[in-house]
Amino acid sequence: MSAREIPTVKLLIDGEFVESRSSEWREVVNPATQEVLARVPMATAGEVEQAIAAAQAAFRTWRKTPIGARARVFLKYQQLIRENMPELAAVLTAEQGKTLADAQGDVFRGLEVVEHAAAIGNLQLGELAHNVAGGVDTYTLLQPLGVCAGITPFNFPAMIPLWMFPMAIACGNTFVLKPSEQDPMVTMRLVELALQAGIPKGVLNVVHGGPSVVDALCDHPDIKAVSFVGSTRVGTHVHQRATASGKRVQCMMGAKNHAVVLPDANKEQALNALVGAAFGAAGQRCMALPVAILVGEARAWLPELVAKSRQLKVSAGHEPGADVGPLISRGACERVRALIDKGVAQGARLELDGRNVDVGRYQAGNFVGPTIFSGVRPGMAVYDEEIFGPVLCVVEAQTLEEAIALINANPNGNGTAIFTQSGAAARRFEEEIDIGQVGINVPIPVPVPTFSFTGSRASKLGELGPYGKQAVLFYTQTKTVTARWFEDPVTSPAGLNTTIALA
Ligand code: NAD
Repeated sequence: MSAREIPTVKLLIDGEFVESRSSEWREVVNPATQEVLARVPMATAGEVEQAIAAAQAAFRTWRKTPIGARARVFLKYQQLIRENMPELAAVLTAEQGKTLADAQGDVFRGLEVVEHAAAIGNLQLGELAHNVAGGVDTYTLLQPLGVCAGITPFNFPAMIPLWMFPMAIACGNTFVLKPSEQDPMVTMRLVELALQAGIPKGVLNVVHGGPSVVDALCDHPDIKAVSFVGSTRVGTHVHQRATASGKRVQCMMGAKNHAVVLPDANKEQALNALVGAAFGAAGQRCMALPVAILVGEARAWLPELVAKSRQLKVSAGHEPGADVGPLISRGACERVRALIDKGVAQGARLELDGRNVDVGRYQAGNFVGPTIFSGVRPGMAVYDEEIFGPVLCVVEAQTLEEAIALINANPNGNGTAIFTQSGAAARRFEEEIDIGQVGINVPIPVPVPTFSFTGSRASKLGELGPYGKQAVLFYTQTKTVTARWFEDPVTSPAGLNTTIALA
């Protein structure tokens, strides 16, 4: 295919999909084959400015659009996403690499948030207290903020954009989205469907790019809130920069999630869950389980864990029966391989080596097969760093207390899971563990959207999480009104009052 035939990813500005005038472009590449799927622009400063201006202008009318009209857009939107699910999953798998089944899961977890946004009429409710003083009522309004921005990572190019703009827009805001430049195509397909569902022009805008576009969004005075999901390094920068310019900011960031396996767990279920959560999506999930703590006699389960992991089929995500797809880029692949080398050099025992996995005709792809280290300790790079690849570190502990202490000593706080048949052990774990999202016999406890995503400690900056009730608070400003209405021609019985008291 010549460079001229490769499609370009468009910007969305004021309801129009437009070709960027940028001179800086990068390629969107199928990570299983290295086929170039599209070219994505790094938007110019002027284009970012136009997108924000369009959102600012659209806010004047959208903020006054009745809540039922806003809700109906999302009712229609969820239907369109459902109808287009196979196509969306195929686009996602081609550019991101995960298996088709997992790509459907990625779209579906986002679809659930859209369904929730359609219920905005029940969510964006204030409070009212009658007669707080003689003839005085106090009530709150949850008002939209204005233009909000979203910056998303490569690993969930459907779900994470859908964590952001549906709830923001349902609350009456307008939005500028900056998708991952590594896999923006499924995000753009979802954006097209959003316009088809009835989102008016200017209410949703999209710019593509890297650091300079992100910085422009963080700095712009017309943007009132920034939602970021991605690495800890970039999230920390976004939080500092956007906070410095007075914005509300939420950053969901890196992770190192531990699973605790107690010897009373159902062995088959626990090992299956562990293998699925460690190696699914090639380990490129912020809620993956890259560390397993085998407690007491569960340490004897290691050979079975290795045997099950060896069975997984590593191949292109669209291949039938594929369990583990490629990593997102050549750079990511090299990084993961180098970390495995380092694990060996630092004395961890390599129980399963995915560095030279056989992937048949996909030799050019960014593949690393399931890899397992045992004898891992804090201080080793494979334990201390977020690998974001199909590498499971097995740690041993004598007791549940020891496992809890290890997890609480790790700076990250995104997710954790315990496998046990003991209600008492599970209850103790949920109470004592200092992690924002806990699974009990559930390996990847990403909350459904009636709740919110609640990563904690080094995995999060900002108080309020994405989607659910917390997202309504994040995307609105509470205004408190204290009102007294005099009945004509009666005047205040108290007469003139120079104190702060409400009479
Ligand atoms: P990333 O931080 O590299 O990129 C995220 C976004 O920031 C992208 O849109 C990117 O264009 C932009 N960006 C990259 N470098 C930048 C810079 N120097 N300045 C400003 N913006 C920049 O993350 P990624 O590699 O796309 O995603 C993987 C990471 O995301 C992992 O660390 C993973 O744990 C994390 N993640 C966290 C959650 C969560 O909910 N906690 C969910 C998904 C992914």
